[in-house]
Amino acid sequence: MTGDATARSVTGMLTNSLDAAVAQRGAASPAQPHTASAPPSDTASPPQPKASSAQSDAASSPPPGPDPLVISIHALRKRYGDREAVRGIDLEVRRGEIFAFLGPNGAGKTTTVEILEGFRHADAGAVRVLGAEPWRAPSAWRERIGIVLQESEAEPGLTVRECLQLYAGYYRAPRGVEETLALVALHEQADERATALSGGQRRRLDVALALVGDPELIFLDEPTTGFDPSARQAAWAVIAGLREIGKTVFLTTHYMEEAERLADRIAIIAAGEIVAQGTPQTLGDRQLAGAHISFALPQGTATPELPPALAAAARPDGAGRIVLTSSSVAADLHALSEWALARGLDLNDLEVARPTLEDTYLKLTTTDQQRS
Ligand code: ATP
Repeated sequence: MTGDATARSVTGMLTNSLDAAVAQRGAASPAQPHTASAPPSDTASPPQPKASSAQSDAASSPPPGPDPLVISIHALRKRYGDREAVRGIDLEVRRGEIFAFLGPNGAGKTTTVEILEGFRHADAGAVRVLGAEPWRAPSAWRERIGIVLQESEAEPGLTVRECLQLYAGYYRAPRGVEETLALVALHEQADERATALSGGQRRRLDVALALVGDPELIFLDEPTTGFDPSARQAAWAVIAGLREIGKTVFLTTHYMEEAERLADRIAIIAAGEIVAQGTPQTLGDRQLAGAHISFALPQGTATPELPPALAAAARPDGAGRIVLTSSSVAADLHALSEWALARGLDLNDLEVARPTLEDTYLKLTTTDQQRS
């Protein structure tokens, strides 16, 4: 997360609420322009032409039921001075899915997400989010997205319920406050001050604040960073629940287990380029990769003593175990067992595992230079 993105975390929520408030006032008074909104954070960028009325109409009309694509990105590019942060990426996010966007620090995730949220404009390429170009979209479009930032500040002095009531007031058609509390399992804390919540509860309130406007698309930025295991499990249940109620979720995370548990599809960005896209099972052809057979050799036994075919595929893992990468697990296990039995060896710590998502991620994002 860059310093620039931290600025977004402070202004982002306000911008969202402000836009909603402006939109609400606009509904009451036709003189108030619906398109009035806080400027995007790309203030140094050249002014953009105004959205055409066709674009505005498309963005403010009711959600198109059958359109299966909530986000589409084609050949997106963005640079900061000499640094090209995003280098011609293509992505599609379908309605009702949880889409995880992964990548190492500085890969271009935040830049992409800020473009999708309308906080930055693209230098080149086509971007459509809920049918509109985000950085030109009017306030009514903003009501259709919810943003949960990495950092947010509790409303001082307000209880959890009052926070939600306040935010609900910004929207024309909010979700009920009690229903929203139930969605994030915060009803027992409804009368507590937001500032008194634990970190995990506070995060659930953040999700609730993003949900109270009943958005179609929710951006979750590293939603469980710093959570203990039980708080993380609870948060995952909330996020999975969003899919159950038909929401589309765009999730950025550094936790592979989180992506694996939650995501229908995953994209990995590295150095501004998409290096893999797929389901958690197929990402980077993970399903085709050989299994890992691992075991500890008894003391005094060297790897070269294994049958030649196995010895060629074996490497020490650096922690006292031998790892064999195998594309014929049954045959290799058979050969290994025969070899061990013939020598009276008991491979009682034998394990067979497929490469984890983390293995695949590291393979895709670690450069040859970093490996050597
Ligand atoms: P992280 O996981 O650390 O949050 P990220 O994948 O979100 O990283 P970005 O914040 O999009 O990465 O940054 C991509 C590249 O663009 C980095 O090299 C970063 O230093 C650079 N960058 C981001 N914002 C700016 C900015 N406002 N001005 C100049 N360079 C920037």
